[in-house]
Amino acid sequence: MKTLHALVALTLLGAARQDAKPNIVLIIADDLGCADLGAYGGKEIPTPNIDSLAAGGVRLTNGYVSCPVCSPTRAGLMTGRYQQRFGHEFNPGPAAAAEEVFGLSLKEPTIAERLKSLGYSTGMVGKWHLGYKPEYHPMKRGFDSYFGFLGGAHSYVKPGKDILRGTEPVDEKEYLTDAFAREAAAYIDGAKDKPFFLYLAFNAVHGPMDASDKRLEKFAGIADAKRRTYATMLSALDDGVGRVLARLREHKLEERTLVFFITDNGGPTPVNTSRNDPFRATKGQVYEGGIHVPFIVQWKGRLPAGKVYEAPAIALDIHPTAVAVAGGPPPEKLDGVNLLPFLSGDKAGPPHDALFWRFGAQSAARMGDWKLVLQQGKAELYNLVEDISEKTDLSVKQPDKLKELQAAYDRWNSELAEPLWGRPRRKRP
Ligand code: CA
Repeated sequence: MKTLHALVALTLLGAARQDAKPNIVLIIADDLGCADLGAYGGKEIPTPNIDSLAAGGVRLTNGYVSCPVCSPTRAGLMTGRYQQRFGHEFNPGPAAAAEEVFGLSLKEPTIAERLKSLGYSTGMVGKWHLGYKPEYHPMKRGFDSYFGFLGGAHSYVKPGKDILRGTEPVDEKEYLTDAFAREAAAYIDGAKDKPFFLYLAFNAVHGPMDASDKRLEKFAGIADAKRRTYATMLSALDDGVGRVLARLREHKLEERTLVFFITDNGGPTPVNTSRNDPFRATKGQVYEGGIHVPFIVQWKGRLPAGKVYEAPAIALDIHPTAVAVAGGPPPEKLDGVNLLPFLSGDKAGPPHDALFWRFGAQSAARMGDWKLVLQQGKAELYNLVEDISEKTDLSVKQPDKLKELQAAYDRWNSELAEPLWGRPRRKRP
């Protein structure tokens, strides 16, 4: 009898654990191009830990962000909505220069607020870039704890006294990427007994180009000094991801944790040597090099391992996916969709009929194989399946396709707000 009771108790416990809400870890890198990651074909700089996410989960080969620069992409990521709907079209500039109105709209619920309301412990580590004023602080936007900096860039080697724990400055001494990894691991240690959401926003590999000294020797064979520095920065980022994944393993949470890895925009190659090939252009542009990014989703035991997913998806999808796995009702008015049934193979067809971009005078739309690029009074059309490098403009040869994408873009564009800060919009075609 005793044995039977124990068996029933064990079975119930097992069932309860299976039903428990999964933890969610969202890791974002900064200014990292696809082509530097081993998982996306990079050969020069080993990234075994980020690659392990692709081996253990689903690697998206048409993953996008909603803007080719930092802050607007993060606004879309946090809200699950195209950020131009609420005027968050541009970067703010540094704190001293930012316009008074800058900050993630307080009317838009964040992923952290939604998960918190679903019983999650919510922690953030890293770069915020969504408001400098007290009302926009991460802990006013759904996070229980915060360690990081509020701006868009930060020194790595002299973190100094403007790194915040909560709202209090701390005198951080460690190389900043290592400090963020340390804090993320500590957050997991403290939060592991209930469902948690960790938003880990590394500023690596964004400038300044500060080498991690202890990793320099490993890359002594890279002749170009800037590239060598970059290699140490990326290596530190990969080590940080590894530290977080090791912590999940140590606490036996791997099968109970959904992990996202993405970057906020394509690599600014001339600035930090990051590579976007075979994509055209870099950060700041709506060609693929600015918006087509590494995007990996791992949930061991729930999503297939080593799967490659080809249909276009976007960072806006992370918010509704997280809410769905947390057991929440689908939030209204989101542009993102729950990716889980698509990645698992339960749902066929693409998650989106179309994806759109507007960044000042540059605009773009992707529908199926086709991409429209609008800039400087000119419309270009590319077939991305045949021409991922956007070399051959087919707008003259395919007038009907051009019209179709232009009409879809115009409909979407008519729903957007004017930018609340930043450069005035120039006339578009
Ligand atoms: Ca960035």
